[in-house]
Amino acid sequence: MNLYAKLLLLGSICVAFIAVRWSAPAFNKESLKGARVLVTGASTGIGEQLAYHYARLGGQLVITARRGNVLEQVVSKCLELGAQRALFISADMASPSDAESVVQYAIEQLGGLDYLVLNHIGPSPYRMWDGDVEHTRWLLEVNFLSYAQMTQKALPTLEKSNGSIVVVSSLLGKICGPFTLPYAATKFAINGFFGGLQHELAMQKSNVSITICILGLIDTDSAMEKIKGYINMTAYPAHEAAWHIIEAGASRQSEAFYPWYTFYACLFRDWFPYLRDQAIQNSYTYNPQ
Ligand code: NDP
Repeated sequence: MNLYAKLLLLGSICVAFIAVRWSAPAFNKESLKGARVLVTGASTGIGEQLAYHYARLGGQLVITARRGNVLEQVVSKCLELGAQRALFISADMASPSDAESVVQYAIEQLGGLDYLVLNHIGPSPYRMWDGDVEHTRWLLEVNFLSYAQMTQKALPTLEKSNGSIVVVSSLLGKICGPFTLPYAATKFAINGFFGGLQHELAMQKSNVSITICILGLIDTDSAMEKIKGYINMTAYPAHEAAWHIIEAGASRQSEAFYPWYTFYACLFRDWFPYLRDQAIQNSYTYNPQ
């Protein structure tokens, strides 16, 4: 294919993308009034912002993370912002029984569930892989297996309510990069699992929607702390990322991208692999001791 043909194709794809975005289902804020929502990893970062947005929209919330004292403060703020109900349950997602009891608690307290928002991640160092397989195993449990477990537990209830599963994933689950191998592995697992589940639910004519949210760099404290000294790139605001996630979930989009460049990065990922890999490697600072 010559350069002219490639540019033409690129232009057509961009136009098609914009057309699809414009015709995407509208987001009805009213539909979230009274919605029964479970948000994981809601003590800080994007999860905390998700809780505040759902609260402003008049949702009924159960939030979870490990630190009960922090969750208590988030719950108070949610009630101030207009949540119809806000409750918390402390849980460690490294424990399969905790993952199940969180869903059980939310269903019992809220009398069902409309949204299961899977957002939590366990802490993982930002550095060259040091061969620590145990950490990778543990992180898979926290970041991925708990998502599968909570989904399995929530599906029958979501089926009754025509509910939705919203999964917070990452560009690092679509494109490989250095310094985050265990984390990226869990995000690739999430994309594979929930992408496959979308097919299976559609084939079973299920009422449950799954939205996979692909995020780029977001300005949460934990992310900013990790990348310091390694990469210099724009981080987008967590409250805006959270709003996009909610919008995509409520309009039952199968995949959502935030910020804008994540869509194009995925689209062009395999077009020029050599240039892509050079660009990735050159964008990081690495000083071997
Ligand atoms: P944070 O590190 O700010 O928050 C992580 C949350 O998970 C906290 O509420 C934490 O609370 C909770 N958590 C950590 N370990 C456990 C555990 N073992 N069991 C239960 N809860 C736990 O993450 P972000 O807000 O930055 O990220 C949120 C989501 O967005 C993640 O899925 C992430 O992959 C995705 N994302 C983020 C990007 C970014 O740049 N920030 C980029 C791309 C994707 P506690 O410590 O109280 O348990």
